[in-house]
Amino acid sequence: MKILVINCGSSSLKYQLIDSETEKAAAVGLCERIGIDGRLVHTVAGCEKLTFDKPLPDHEAAVQAVLAALMDGQHGVVSSLDEIGAVGHRVVHGGERFTGSVVIDDAVIAAIKECNDLAPLHNPANLIGIDACRKLMPGVPMVAVFDTAFHQTMPKKAYTYALPYEYYDKYKVRRYGFHGTSHSYVSRRAAELSGVDLNNSKIIVCHLGNGASVSAILNGKSVDTSMGLTPLEGLVMGTRSGDIDPAIIEFIAKKEGKSLPEVMEILNKKSGVYGLSGVSSDFRDLEAAADGGNERAKDATEVFVYRTAKYIGAYTAAMNGVDVIAFTAGLGENDKKIRAKVCAYLKYLGVEIDDVRNDVRGKEALISSDSSKIKVLAVPTNEELAIARDTAALVG
Ligand code: AMP
Repeated sequence: MKILVINCGSSSLKYQLIDSETEKAAAVGLCERIGIDGRLVHTVAGCEKLTFDKPLPDHEAAVQAVLAALMDGQHGVVSSLDEIGAVGHRVVHGGERFTGSVVIDDAVIAAIKECNDLAPLHNPANLIGIDACRKLMPGVPMVAVFDTAFHQTMPKKAYTYALPYEYYDKYKVRRYGFHGTSHSYVSRRAAELSGVDLNNSKIIVCHLGNGASVSAILNGKSVDTSMGLTPLEGLVMGTRSGDIDPAIIEFIAKKEGKSLPEVMEILNKKSGVYGLSGVSSDFRDLEAAADGGNERAKDATEVFVYRTAKYIGAYTAAMNGVDVIAFTAGLGENDKKIRAKVCAYLKYLGVEIDDVRNDVRGKEALISSDSSKIKVLAVPTNEELAIARDTAALVG
C-alpha cells in the first residue's frame, strides 16, 4: 500500500510517499512559506531535487500542490489518487488521551483540539493539515501518530511535577515527553542491531538534533524522558534552554523589564547553544567557531555535552542499569565528536568508544569497542517510516 505521510507545521508541510511493503520512499518533499508566497521542493527517489515557486495561500493549496506533484506526468510517482491507500499525520500532542496511533474520525479530531492548549503552536497546524487532506482526499483513511504517545507508559513518579496537585487535576499539568515516534523507532532498531531482546532490555536513546531529548526505555516501554509538559524541558538545545531554575523567569523579567511571553520567547528561541555562544544554533557553525578559538562556542558545546551525559546517568539509575545507548537525529547520527564527548563521561559505566567505528555519518553502526560493557550505537531515525508503519497496521 502507498502511504502519504504528512508533517504539517504552521507555514510548512513535509511529506513522503512510502510503500508499506518495500518501506521505501518513492518521493519526499516540502512546502514552505505557506500563506506568504509559497515554494514546493519535490524529490523523486534517485532523481534531482525539483523546486517550484508557486502560490500557496493556505494549507489546502499546499496539499493540492503535493498531490499534483505526486501525480505529475513527468515527475510524478502515482498515476491517480486511488493509488494512495492511506494518509499518516504527525500530531505533536495527544495529551493523556492518546496512548498510541489512531484512525482519524470526527471524535478524534475533537479530542486533538482539546489538546491544543498543551501545544498551541503545533496541534492547530497539524489539524489544518488533516482538514485539508480530508477535504481533498475524501474516503481515504487517515491516521494520527502522536509525538507524546510512546511516553504514555511513564510511571506516575516520572511524569509528576511537584506542584499543587490541583494543577494536574484541573489542567493535566504533567510531563508528557516528545519525539516519541523517534524514541520508539530507534529503541527497536537499536535492540535489533545489538542483538538484545527488546522485551528484556534497558535502552537509553539520545535524540540530539536542534530539538533534543533523552529517554529511558525499559523492556521496550518509555519509563522516563527529558522533555516535559512542553518541549522546553530537559537537554540544552539549539535555541531552547532546557532545564533552568524556574525563579530565573521572574528574575530576568524584572531586571530586563520584560513580560512573561517575552521571557518565554527568550527561553524557546534565544537560548540553548545559540544564546550561550552568540554564534549559531547549528553545531557545524559552533564547531567551526570553536576551532577558530571562539571560547563561548567551546563552552556552549561543553554545557550541551555535560547535560546530555547527566541525563544518561540519571536514566541509568532510573532503570538500575543500561544495556544499550543509541544516538540519533542530526547530531547523534552525524557528529562523531559530540558522541565521543558524551561517552567520555560514561567511563564509570564501562563505556568504551572505538574511534574507527565512531567515524561514521548518517549510518547504522555499532560505535563501541568489543570490550565495552555497554553497546553504543548510531541509529538514523526515520519518523516518517514509523508513521507509515503505524498507518499501514491500522488501516491495512
Ligand atoms: P535535526 O534537528 O535533527 O535536523 O539536527 C540539527 C543539528 O544536527 C544541527 O545542530 C546540525 O549542526 C547537526 N547536523 C546535521 N547534519 C550534520 C552533519 N553532517 N555533521 C554534523 N552535524 C550535523
